[in-house]
Amino acid sequence: MENKGTKSAPLAVVGTVAIDQVETPFGQRDRVFGGSASYFSYAASFFTPVSLVAVVGEDFPEEYREILKEKSVDLSHLEVIRGGKTFAWKGKYEHDLNTAQTLETHLNVLMDFQPRIQFEEKPGFLFLANIDPVLQLSVLKQMEKPKLKFVACDTMNYWIQNKRQDLIEVLKRVDCFVMNDGEARQLTGEPNLIRAAKKVQEWGPGIVVIKKGEHGVLLQYGQKYFTLPAYPLESVFDPTGAGDSFAGGMMGYLTQSKDSSFETLKKALGYGSIVASYAVEDFGLDRLRKIKRKEIDERFDLFKKLISL
Ligand code: AMP
Repeated sequence: MENKGTKSAPLAVVGTVAIDQVETPFGQRDRVFGGSASYFSYAASFFTPVSLVAVVGEDFPEEYREILKEKSVDLSHLEVIRGGKTFAWKGKYEHDLNTAQTLETHLNVLMDFQPRIQFEEKPGFLFLANIDPVLQLSVLKQMEKPKLKFVACDTMNYWIQNKRQDLIEVLKRVDCFVMNDGEARQLTGEPNLIRAAKKVQEWGPGIVVIKKGEHGVLLQYGQKYFTLPAYPLESVFDPTGAGDSFAGGMMGYLTQSKDSSFETLKKALGYGSIVASYAVEDFGLDRLRKIKRKEIDERFDLFKKLISL
């Protein structure tokens, strides 16, 4: 890792860079380029430059690195562990495409990853994508002084189950928490999502975003509330990465706007929904690789017309 004295992009992310194996009702694919930080950084880079903080093994294919380079993602903090194996995830979706079943999780190089942040100039916006909360906390502690403009984080059932207390420590220090409906219920024990969002606020983050897959997203912003449907799609091919692409679109737009007010966040949720709607139209990053910012803006305009009353 050649990161000494580098300057971070305005948006930085820590998360997983993975080799996935995915099965959906429409097909199966081995060795898909995945991981929360990969989807996030690719999606966010339609809006802003992004720095990626992550670890991979020696088996990490050069062609995957090239995919991130297509979007000029800053890889100065992508560590390669000699002799190590990249994080690997195997998941399956049945007819309910909102719920992934995890079949296998191989943490591999994540087990002893100790991120060392050496940015001379910090980012304004930071996203702690889905990864071990202990690592999220380590990155946050190294970056949070002087105070960043906006920090958001995500998680998943695996970490709620295995590292709940560490996750709550992370929540105490972030401005915004993004999760899906199942995770919100699992974490808070609250079946009602508005009450769940308020319970999360009591732990720390004033802003809570709950994603509901094809049913849209809700936002609790202090005392204010907002909700959006999902962009209606007739063919969802592979939902893997939808949540991370959503977060990438959302954080990318906030960073581009240099703002995190309620009004900007509402638009950011719209952009997040549109980027996610493209991501699910093919396996892995295949669909996002075929579009330009123009297509995102066009679908966003259509979406605006669709939801106005
Ligand atoms: P999502 O946006 O929620 O569909 O995230 C999908 C990505 O999460 C996949 O590409 C996986 O590699 C990654 N992933 C799966 N399990 C974990 C985990 N326990 N921690 C971090 N990332 C994971």
